[in-house]
Amino acid sequence: MRNAKIVCTLGPASESRRTVRQLAEAGMSVARLNASHGSREDRAELVDRIRDVDETTPGPLPVMLDLQGPEIRTAQIDEPVHLEPDSTVRFVVGDDATSEEVGLSYAITNVEPGDTVLLDDGRIETTVESVEADGEDGAVVARVESGGDLGSRKGVNVPGVELDLDVVTEADRRELELAAEKGVDFVAASFVRSADDVLEVSEVLEAAGADVPVVAKIERRGAVENLDEIIDAAYGVMIARGDLGVECPLEDVPMIQKRIIRKCQATGTPVITATEMLDSMVTARRPTRAEASDVANAVLDGTDAVMLSGETAVGDDPVRVVETMDRIVREVEDSGEYDEIREQRVPPADDARTDALARSARYLARDIGASAVVAASESGYTALKVAKFRPQVPVVATTPNDRVRRQLALSWGVDAEYTPMSSGVENVIENAVQAALDAGAAESGDTVVVLSGMMSGLEGASTTNTLKVHVAAETIATGRSVVSGRVAAPVARTTDGDLSDVPPGSILAVEPEFEGEFSGDPGALVGIVDARPGMTGYPAMVARELDVPMISGAPLDPAIRDGDTVTLDAERGVVYEGDVTHPDRA
Ligand code: PEP
Repeated sequence: MRNAKIVCTLGPASESRRTVRQLAEAGMSVARLNASHGSREDRAELVDRIRDVDETTPGPLPVMLDLQGPEIRTAQIDEPVHLEPDSTVRFVVGDDATSEEVGLSYAITNVEPGDTVLLDDGRIETTVESVEADGEDGAVVARVESGGDLGSRKGVNVPGVELDLDVVTEADRRELELAAEKGVDFVAASFVRSADDVLEVSEVLEAAGADVPVVAKIERRGAVENLDEIIDAAYGVMIARGDLGVECPLEDVPMIQKRIIRKCQATGTPVITATEMLDSMVTARRPTRAEASDVANAVLDGTDAVMLSGETAVGDDPVRVVETMDRIVREVEDSGEYDEIREQRVPPADDARTDALARSARYLARDIGASAVVAASESGYTALKVAKFRPQVPVVATTPNDRVRRQLALSWGVDAEYTPMSSGVENVIENAVQAALDAGAAESGDTVVVLSGMMSGLEGASTTNTLKVHVAAETIATGRSVVSGRVAAPVARTTDGDLSDVPPGSILAVEPEFEGEFSGDPGALVGIVDARPGMTGYPAMVARELDVPMISGAPLDPAIRDGDTVTLDAERGVVYEGDVTHPDRA
């Protein structure tokens, strides 16, 4: 299990059912659809295809729909045009581009002489000389400082200038209708500047009847300045380093990244580090050393997820890219340095009770040598709190809500599993622990720390959180109690009742075909599990006489062999795998 998750942008190179499945097998945690490219119809089909794959793969596969937002792009053209250094270029709203006049998707007439207009991720830089009239019909005249070939639909950035564009454009509204209709798991909001912008996206979704968590993309200077309120308003945050590195000085990006991750972790907000992480792998088979280090550093900083964009959307070998990223992340997470940094950077608890309990669960798991922290979480809230404190052991989150299960796939370290809704806190805990056993995060007999959130099905006092140290126990047989008591011992199966080879101190498992009486000394038995039903047969008589725990009607799982240790809990009529007679369980 990897702690840092991998978000993959799907595109022409990766949108076939086969590749989506291969990406999921290689380690994709979240599928991202970028609304800046392709058609809405294609995206609708792709969401269906991802859902189909999700149904056939073991892990959850959520869909994130990333809005284009008020992004300005140059016109769509067939051949690149050359912008000569020191030449003059006019920016107008239009759908053509020449070396003298470049059409844009929105007006930029709010600029003033001296402002910078950047094209194609800042590769072409111009300085505004004059503005000819305002609005859609206006034009901006600029001098080309550093020129180059300008391709089709390239991004335009005007750092530090408020362009008066709605954060939710008409195209975004249609996209949000699609998000609501398809019930996508996250919407990523581009170019937000404030908490109000984030809330506006949520409001449009709500008006469309959907409750979809919003991931705020931090790619403007204004967003960096309003980071705290944005974190407060959004479900998650994406460090969109592409536009961020054009809107802000490039040299500011590394520290902004580290600060955002730190703040998100301190508030338990999922954070994605995005853009150009393994960019050279769009065409190359191996990443550069610098790219490998970039991924590693984001993981060491504590990011919830790392993201792939062009590498998986249009790259030569998307599956290889995910495998490479997966290997880099695992290598970091296996290191002593990673453990050390995590131990040093545990955030303080805030004043919510669940926060304090989740922090305690982290230290409790460490101090008692637990195998996992299990979070039973209906809304995902308790699971997010557990992830916030980055425990040193696996985090298994169990939820009866399949949507929450998918959304938790974005969060650091969370292995999200489905469990049916149950009544009574004991059942919630039993089901959650069973899910951890099924997921392989714990083995029967292991100690786990369970934090149960508030469940709508539970009543009264049991609706408060419960923190429990629990011994995980895999049920291998259930039956009816004949003589009560609890014992853990090696098992010995018998079909003929001959006890001469049964080692002293064994639990005797009586097979269905047994008839008659035992031969040899039954005094050495410490318990009996009879596969056959009934309270009055010969083994029941022996158990009563010896006063050893016994259950009947409980055929043992065939995988259990002679000599394997089991726990016979004749109070509950259950046989568990391993020794689970830990005092905390009782
Ligand atoms: C970015 O700018 O880094 C980013 C992730 O946004 P987009 O891919 O939408 O340009």
